[in-house]
Amino acid sequence: SKAGGRDMARFFTPEMNERAQTRLRIESSLRHAIERNELSLHFQPRVDAQSSRLVGVEALLRWQHPAWGAVSPAQFIPIAEDSGQIIAIGAWVIARACEQHATWRRDGVGTVPVSLNMSVLQLRDGDVVEVLSEALRMHDVNPSDIEIELTESNLMDAAENSLSQLHALKALGVVLSIDDFGTGYSSLNYLNRFPIDKLKIDQSFVHRMLEDPTDLAIVRAIVGLGHTLGLQVVAEGVETPLEAGTLKAAGCDELQGYLIAKPMPPDELARWLAKRRE
Ligand code: C2E
Ligand code: CA
Ligand code: CA
Ligand code: CA
Repeated sequence: SKAGGRDMARFFTPEMNERAQTRLRIESSLRHAIERNELSLHFQPRVDAQSSRLVGVEALLRWQHPAWGAVSPAQFIPIAEDSGQIIAIGAWVIARACEQHATWRRDGVGTVPVSLNMSVLQLRDGDVVEVLSEALRMHDVNPSDIEIELTESNLMDAAENSLSQLHALKALGVVLSIDDFGTGYSSLNYLNRFPIDKLKIDQSFVHRMLEDPTDLAIVRAIVGLGHTLGLQVVAEGVETPLEAGTLKAAGCDELQGYLIAKPMPPDELARWLAKRRE
């Protein structure tokens, strides 16, 4: 209402106002991002901790705005979640990831398992099971080659409906993992209730574990917990050989991070893979 708007104007400091306006600008530009071809996926390799063989790639969303340049997903994903745009964007990511899997296969790059990030809002409000099964069928992708990463903090809000969606995704045959594990509301209760295959240790633990013994203890505890429950454990944000060695010794199954490779556009990833095979 008009009165509400006046109250707000009085209530907000100029700085808050600017933040709110930035959000609005992002939200309205994001509305056209798909049709204007401004979104793309980059892919970051994940390797087996013991053998260093590639086990898959994580699809990470990129937004190249014509005027602003690259906008970080850390900035626009939360806005897309608040506005509901994450449903359409998430569907685009699913289709694009499956299409890329098929393209690499067709071009002789190989069968590259792809993991993608999914907002819990897609589980709650979207027809994500249909979107995914359609994309798998259309691009003839083996469901076990697709992994879905869900963020722990959001997962906790998951309603019963989301839980049944999670089971339906699992029934498609895709791999399910919990991202940023160890942060957020740490209820371990859902590890039993949710049909999860993998845990991804939050990067903050990896970044601090060599300076802070508590963080190293947490990393080891997550690996132990995961393995006890029959889950694979992935470490991301691995930047140095010392970190990689420590994580390997702690029993992590897979490693991901700048030490191995940064996220890359698809053609660059193909070259990276070819080079490693030489
Ligand atoms: P995330 O899923 O935890 O992804 C890992 C982030 O860490 C990525 O940031 C990646 O580029 C970065 N990273 C990888 N290796 C290293 C490293 O060695 N050191 C450091 N410091 N960082 C590393 P990015 O691409 O900016 O994505 C940020 C977040 O945005 C993601 O965190 C994820 O939560 C979200 N996101 C990205 N793409 C999507 C998407 O398609 N859908 C949804 N719902 N969220 C997405
Ligand atoms: Ca992720
Ligand atoms: Ca993460
Ligand atoms: Ca994250």
